[in-house]
Amino acid sequence: MAIAVLAEAVISQIAAGEVVERPTSVVKELLENALDAGAHSIRVEVEGGGRSLIRVSDDGAGICAAEVELAFARHATSKLRNAADLSQIMSLGFRGEALAAIAAVSRVRAITRARTEATGTQLRMDAGQLLAREGIGAPPGTVIAVENLFFNMPARLKFLKSETSERTHMARLLARYALAYPLVRFTLQFDGREVFQATGGGAAREALLAAYGAELARALLEIAPQTADGIEVRGFVSPPEQHRANRRELTFFVNGRWVQDQQLSSAVLQAYHTLLPGGRYPTVMLQLQVPPAEVDVNVHPAKAEVRFRAPDAIFRAVGRAVRSALLQQAPVAAGTPREWSNGPQPGLGDWSWKVWSGAGAQQPNAGAATNPVSLPAAQPEQTSALSALERIPLLRVLGQVGLAYVVAEGPDGLYLIDQHAAHERVLYEAFVAQAADAQVSAQALLQPATVEVPPAAASLLRQQLSTLNALGFDISEFGASAFLVRAIPTVLGPVDATRAVSSVIDELEEDESLLAQAGERRIIARVCKRASVKAGQALSPAEQQQLVRGLEACSAPRTCPHGRPTMIHLSVSVLERQFGRK
Ligand code: ADP
Ligand code: MG
Repeated sequence: MAIAVLAEAVISQIAAGEVVERPTSVVKELLENALDAGAHSIRVEVEGGGRSLIRVSDDGAGICAAEVELAFARHATSKLRNAADLSQIMSLGFRGEALAAIAAVSRVRAITRARTEATGTQLRMDAGQLLAREGIGAPPGTVIAVENLFFNMPARLKFLKSETSERTHMARLLARYALAYPLVRFTLQFDGREVFQATGGGAAREALLAAYGAELARALLEIAPQTADGIEVRGFVSPPEQHRANRRELTFFVNGRWVQDQQLSSAVLQAYHTLLPGGRYPTVMLQLQVPPAEVDVNVHPAKAEVRFRAPDAIFRAVGRAVRSALLQQAPVAAGTPREWSNGPQPGLGDWSWKVWSGAGAQQPNAGAATNPVSLPAAQPEQTSALSALERIPLLRVLGQVGLAYVVAEGPDGLYLIDQHAAHERVLYEAFVAQAADAQVSAQALLQPATVEVPPAAASLLRQQLSTLNALGFDISEFGASAFLVRAIPTVLGPVDATRAVSSVIDELEEDESLLAQAGERRIIARVCKRASVKAGQALSPAEQQQLVRGLEACSAPRTCPHGRPTMIHLSVSVLERQFGRK
């Protein structure tokens, strides 16, 4: 065959095949258009599993009489003007393809009236060809009726799934959109019978019920909206005891768009790790709001996939949200504390602990039975080493040991956390972040405190006053060797102001080098060291929890600001080896 450019009608059909794969895709595109038009109420009527009829009616903005034909032209859209807009897409549509694609493979009757106009317009089209157009009285909004879908594509018709299968898919689709858009009223009818309604009253209950059935809907755990790194996550997750054989019930909405994403799924499954039996999957419906510039929606003709600019932050936010919902609702059973036998345990010397140091060194075998853990030498400010920068997973706090360590479980084993070092790290990062933004928040003292210091210390303090004041202190000179403290940095929490200042002075005196190169960060590190909880201090479960949550949020959680490890990790595989399971 000689080469020839395809006729427009053939091109349209080929293109249509990508957008409209099956009757459910028509429903999805029309639904998205209605949502983009700001509809408060959307009715979907389906006959014959969508082959005979799909009619979607909305009370949205409608289409101006002058633009109705244009709406059905290929690459015609009101939602995008230039390529730059692609990075700011807030609407569900933007490709201007759906109506054209749908019209190319069916018979369409459209009635629409723009809210700003007095009368409506009716169009009739057959395989993309305009048959008739007339003015018509109609309420504001749009009704698109799609008849005889794929009548001109016998190959597609032959491979369509059963009517039942289409109905199931459509019902799932509607229920999920209803969950994602709780303020919109949705109605779904099959062959004249109403099968689903969400009243748009903002309650997720009906939609949950329709999407998941009564039992699961009741059991689902809600993730209240939470924001980290500009990413908001909310939704519902099944408790660990409810699981299913496949991953079909992992639903993700990103900026109101239902997307399939392998990596989001992995983040969720990772959060469930060790909570579900092997080969079993949870039911999850998550809604993410991310800045539009962070997500590329133009990856897929059906817009079912997206690409994230900073996937790690997204996956972390998702993992965190899911894991914390699971841990909150499924707390550790409170048991009586075990009696620990005194003295060294036989064989402990063989344990290989994974220890993080500032330099990222991993200490393999420590040797001596009495001291299985040998910590690498402190190496201040080496937190840039890779392993130190590795974030930690969400941990389940198990308790405190020896008034010095918090024990926690993660998806990958046991963590022993040095409470003092960890707290130093948490305070330090909070402090540095604020200082970097020049937004150090200070807590004003109810009563300004006067601090008397020895003359030598006074001169040290005087030299550092501007640095300290930039860090959230408000200290001013008050005579030869006295200072007036009006505020201290908020991150220090409820500490006695006098103590806070004198501990800074102690630090200044202790570390001469601090003076030489009065690095702000070094002062911060010093202040945090003083302000952090010490070994020997009992922490309530809530305090342990707070400490671990804080550590999870750190960018270099595995070392303290001075480079010492904050934690020891005993991986599942090490445990298995030690117990002779491997
Ligand atoms: P896209 O949604 O990508 O813009 P479509 O082919 O789905 O492309 O729709 C083309 C245009 O028709 C839309 O940009 C919009 O202006 C208009 N339109 C389609 N459906 C509706 C509707 N239900 N209400 C109002 N306008 C609509
Ligand atoms: Mg559209």
